[in-house]
This record gives sequence, C-alpha cells and structure tokens, in this order.
Amino acid sequence: MKLPIYMDYNATTPVDPRVLDAMLPYFQDKFGNSASRNHEFGWVAEEAVEKARDQVGSAIGASGKEIIWTSGATESNNIAIKGVAGMYRDKGNHIITQVIEHKAVIDPCKYLEQNGYDVTFLPVDKHGMVHPEQVREAMTDKTILVSIMHGNNEIGTINPIKGIGAVCKERDVIFHVDACQTFAKQPIDVEDMGIDLLSASGHKIYGPKGMGALYVRRKRPRVRCEPIVHGGGHERGMRSGTLNVPGIVGMGRAAELCVEMRVEELPRITALRNRLKDGLFARLPEIFLNGHPTERIPNNLNISFLYVEGESLMMGFSDIAVSSGSACTSASLEPSYVLKALGLGDDLAHSSIRFSIGRFTTEQEIDYTIERVCVAVEKLREMSPLFEMAQEGIDLSKVQWAAH
Ligand SMILES: *Cc1c(COP(=O)(O)O)cnc(C)c1O
Repeated sequence: MKLPIYMDYNATTPVDPRVLDAMLPYFQDKFGNSASRNHEFGWVAEEAVEKARDQVGSAIGASGKEIIWTSGATESNNIAIKGVAGMYRDKGNHIITQVIEHKAVIDPCKYLEQNGYDVTFLPVDKHGMVHPEQVREAMTDKTILVSIMHGNNEIGTINPIKGIGAVCKERDVIFHVDACQTFAKQPIDVEDMGIDLLSASGHKIYGPKGMGALYVRRKRPRVRCEPIVHGGGHERGMRSGTLNVPGIVGMGRAAELCVEMRVEELPRITALRNRLKDGLFARLPEIFLNGHPTERIPNNLNISFLYVEGESLMMGFSDIAVSSGSACTSASLEPSYVLKALGLGDDLAHSSIRFSIGRFTTEQEIDYTIERVCVAVEKLREMSPLFEMAQEGIDLSKVQWAAH
C-alpha cells in the first residue's frame, strides 16, 4: 500500500490513464483549432470535439448539441445563473436557490442580489435536503430561475431533483442543477427530471482540471443564456473562445468511462464507504454522521467526532488526505457554512471530517484508515477533560464554566 492515501475525491480526482491516453494526440499531432473550417487540421479537431459533446450529452439523456464547453463548473454555474438572469430580465427578477449550494452558485446569486435581483436562499432540513414544496411555496410571478444542486459536495446529500423539476415545469420556471458530484457517476436524465440547465466538471469525474460543461436545453423550452465572455461567438454565442480540444476530448472520454463503469463502480464504492463507516462506528462512541443517512452520494462520508477538533484530528493521521469542516479554508475560525445550516452546534461542526473515496480506493486503504482514525480519536479524547466529564455522565450543557 502506497502512502499517503488519497481520500478527498469530492475535492478532485486523478485523471484516469485511459482519459490521458485519449487526450495526448490532441496536444501535438492533432493540434488543430476546431473553428478552422477550411482544412484538415481543423476538421480533425472539430470531429473530436463533437464526439465528446455526444459523450457528455448521452451521459444525461441529452443531445450533444445541447452541450456548451466551459473552463469548469464554476464557469458553467456563472453562465447558467447570470446568463438566465440577464436574458429573462423582462420576465422577472426572482431567483430561488438554497443555503448549502457550492460557492460557485451562492456567489453569482449574491452578485445578482446586489444588482437588483431578488434571491430566495431556501433553508435545508437537518439532513441538508431541500423539498419540492419549499420551492413551490417560494415561487412568485417574478420567479425566472431555480438553482438546486444534485449531490452536495460536503455532506453528500442528494436532493429530490425530479420533484423540484416537476414544480418548475408547473410554473414554467427554468431549472438549473449543479451536478458536479453526480454527473456521469449516477443515472441522470434531463427529460425525466425536468432539468433545463446542468453544470458538470471534468476533474470530479477522473478527467482534466479547468474543463467543464453546461447542458442548455434546446427545446421544450429553448433556454437561452446571455454570455459572460464575448468574442467570436463560439458555443452558440454563449461562451466565446478557442476550444480546449485536449481538455474536451478528456472530459468526453471521462464521462463515457464513468457511465460504462457505473454498474460495477457504484456498488463497489458504496461497499467501501460502508465498510469505513461501519468500522468507525463499531469502535468509536459519540460520533455522528452528517448529511442524509440514505439519500447520499455513495463515495462521501462526513462524520463529526465529538470532543475532538477536526484540524487536530487531521494532524493525527497526516498520511491520509481528507477534508475538515472546521476552519481550514478561512482565517475567521468559522466552521463550515454547510454544517452550520444543518443546525450543528460549533462543537459538532468543528469536529467534522469529510472522507471521500473513489475509483482507485482499495479495501486495504479503508482498513488502514479505520485503524489510524480510531487511534487518533482515542488519543485526543484521552487528553480531553470534556470527554472525561461526559463519560462520567456529567451533562456538559449544564456545566457552569468559571470563565463566564
Ligand atoms: C467542484 C464543484 C464545483 C466547482 O467546479 P470547478 O470545475 O472546480 O470549477 C461546483 N459545484 C460543486 C458541487 C462541486 O463539487
């Protein structure tokens, strides 16, 4: 077994060797500009780009013609949200989203809020889920867009997209879904689920970084987005700029592989995730699963280890790469906004760790992780007076702390 172990697949994934093989010819031999219509070099590149469009489209039951290439899902989300807001401004100025979206949805919505739009950030339930009735109740005659993610990147909860899509259809409101964590890895059908716009990212599916796609429905209804980047009018005018041909080829192949491998990969990864969960829960008291108990992406396990602090815990097993819900990304010492939105107190939010596994995770790595994490938690708890008091049956919420 090779150390360190990678358990941060919700943050990014390695490029699959088969994806890299598909990409390599397009850097040198087949380097043409896909917009060059009058020679062989251009045609070869264009053919590859169109093939990748079909690979990405067919992963979600869409046509390749409905796929727009972008620099990543952050850009896809920006085009979807700001693009619809601009294009349908005459129809209304109200947008509905929810509090635990990725920042790449939250921030464009906040930007629009500062520019005359009205944004409803729906709350989530204790599992991090949004319900179709909430969306229905929030709608007004000014609502032009609903943006709700499929699988949450931090806690793994999967939203009832089909139900929300149906609510949007009732009111003829455009429905955007950030599907970075599920695209190609789980069955998605834009027709069946009533999705009008869908964002995907290359590097979450064993493809290249800096590569994304946006599905834009072409009929029933034909959805239009005002561009953010103006230029040569590429990508149906919605995203100008010479296409990243090797990246596109990689994203297409990555999507195709995920779909092909899904039948085998979904149960395998689910079993490994459950092995990790069961191993930790069997040995450690006072630990809690964050996110939905069943409606969750199969590769994510987010756990709060009460009485230990996430960052210190991570240092206790530095040969395993995970993420913490505490303050690692901010100077503010504020725990994750996602965990706070679930109603977790600071103690639980600060003690959370996200384990996310994937295609190259092995059973041996899972067993090693269980052992390392348990030892680290036990050691930290041994030094914790709070844990000792709790074990003695003292209700910590009733303790009068001297400092107060
Ligand atoms: C990773 C991720 C993004 C951002 O994608 P990039 O391609 O890195 O810009 C957006 N939303 C979710 C849910 C993600 O997991």
